[in-house]
Amino acid sequence: MKKLMGISASQGIAIAKVFELKHIELDIVKQKSEPEKEIVLLNSSIKKSIEEIEKVKAIALKNLGPEEASVFDAHIQVASDPSIKEEVIALITTEKCNAAFALDSISKNYISMFENMEDIYMKERAADLKDVARRVIYNILGIKTQDLTSINEEVIIVAFDLTPSETSQLNKKFVKGFATDIGGKTSHSAIMARSLEIPAVLGLKTITEDVKDGDIVAINGGTGEVFINPTPELLKELSLMQKNIIAEKERLQAFKNLKSVTKDGKHVEIAGNIGSPNDVNGVLENGGDAVGLFRSEFLYMDSEDWPTEEEQYESYSLAIKKMKGKKVIIRTLDIGGDKTLKYFTFPPEMNPFLGYRAIRLCLDKQDIFITQLRAIIRASEFGKLGIMFPMIATVDEFRKAREIYDKVYKDVLKENPKISKEIEVGMMVEIPSAAVHTEVFCKYADFVSIGTNDLMQYSMASDRMNENVSYLYQPLNPSIIKLIKMTIEGAHKAGKWVGMCGEMAGDMTAIPLLVGMGLDEFSMSASSILEAREFISRIDSKKAKEMVEEVVMADNQEQVENILKKYKF
Ligand code: PEP
Ligand code: MG
Repeated sequence: MKKLMGISASQGIAIAKVFELKHIELDIVKQKSEPEKEIVLLNSSIKKSIEEIEKVKAIALKNLGPEEASVFDAHIQVASDPSIKEEVIALITTEKCNAAFALDSISKNYISMFENMEDIYMKERAADLKDVARRVIYNILGIKTQDLTSINEEVIIVAFDLTPSETSQLNKKFVKGFATDIGGKTSHSAIMARSLEIPAVLGLKTITEDVKDGDIVAINGGTGEVFINPTPELLKELSLMQKNIIAEKERLQAFKNLKSVTKDGKHVEIAGNIGSPNDVNGVLENGGDAVGLFRSEFLYMDSEDWPTEEEQYESYSLAIKKMKGKKVIIRTLDIGGDKTLKYFTFPPEMNPFLGYRAIRLCLDKQDIFITQLRAIIRASEFGKLGIMFPMIATVDEFRKAREIYDKVYKDVLKENPKISKEIEVGMMVEIPSAAVHTEVFCKYADFVSIGTNDLMQYSMASDRMNENVSYLYQPLNPSIIKLIKMTIEGAHKAGKWVGMCGEMAGDMTAIPLLVGMGLDEFSMSASSILEAREFISRIDSKKAKEMVEEVVMADNQEQVENILKKYKF
């Protein structure tokens, strides 16, 4: 048995025989040839490729739906593009060379041009063009590709990478999961795996070298573990885990379209955390009431330079449109600490987590902040929007940020009177100074959202990235609970609502306490939404409130755990 660790791209456990998808490395050389013959070959190969893409599109429509299938309209467009074809023909004619070489050189020029563009949409077109060019070149050279649609037994696909056309052909009935050498959480194949709801682990570096035909592979999409030829004991353990996950998922489906209410009828919101507009699919599939945290910094981290207003507007608008009237709360740039940018040098700092980051940086570099605010406010035209500022430590910081926001809002409103008139402007409570003083912050903020990941690190003075002090991550520590209680009470006194978007909101052990403290909104990873809704439906909020009073007087986390057990929620 061999174990590999990769990036968890799509949840779930899959065990099956390997299907190795081999990408043929093409070494296309320039050859002398008759131009007429090569042009005929080029035309027939383009025609054949378009027919193939039409077929792939029909399969994608069936397997994935119209949105994902639309990528193949773009492929058909590229394959039929007359100007690319003209350039290839011109090269064949002037150089008297082979069609494969001419197409390869012209497409490479376009691919690098697209890859260097600022616009995210255009950058993505580079992948489409690569996919199409490869298909046409294979047809010119008469190379047969492995036909993924003909797979008729249960397999796990192992590949260096999967292109969009390959991923969309996967039939869930037989393809139980996939594992690749390259790729990450936001790569195209990861996004499609999540849409298909098949487990996937990417970025395994050497999986294609480590497996051979006939091997059995087990992948755990939740943890990123991949086992090649697992032992019988491990197989048994994983199969059991798999059965339980499937049975539980099916049972929870009954809660997808229900309201989020406690046993005694108190209404709460259960929302999802997202890092990109694609993640909205998961929130909706799991019946999320809203997006409680859109971490906008991923857009910045994935860019080669500061994302433009248009790029941001496109991304925020897409998320809002996809939510179809359900609220999306966008958090403004939370950069610094462990989140760095390729194109910006942070000043050297002794303690980056306590340093120049998030709202501090945005208030200092207001042009960056204003660009983002403009993009967010403009996107409000398409639905229900909330905006919140991260890492607020003082009332003055919030007031300053809101003042800038108000001014930008007025400017954008002049340009487009259709933008929303009901944008809520809130703040994250991640620093103890904000937690203890929430009531006063709420004179200015429309809502607060508690970021327990940071609140915990600043309250316990324990770096969240340092495993030597990770024992201090104690969401059930009475001091932390007291701090959260103060925050919720402070906001409620000021008549404002309180959410939580740190990991604690989706932690089933903590949920009864949060219900008891009167938390209004729970925002978590999409895969926890249904479990949380089902659990909350069994909690009596009054009984939970009683429990909170007992918990805040406990000595430590262990005692809190015992009190929780006693209440048996
Ligand atoms: C938090 O700190 O709890 C939070 C939600 O923000 P992040 O994890 O992105 O710092
Ligand atoms: Mg945080």
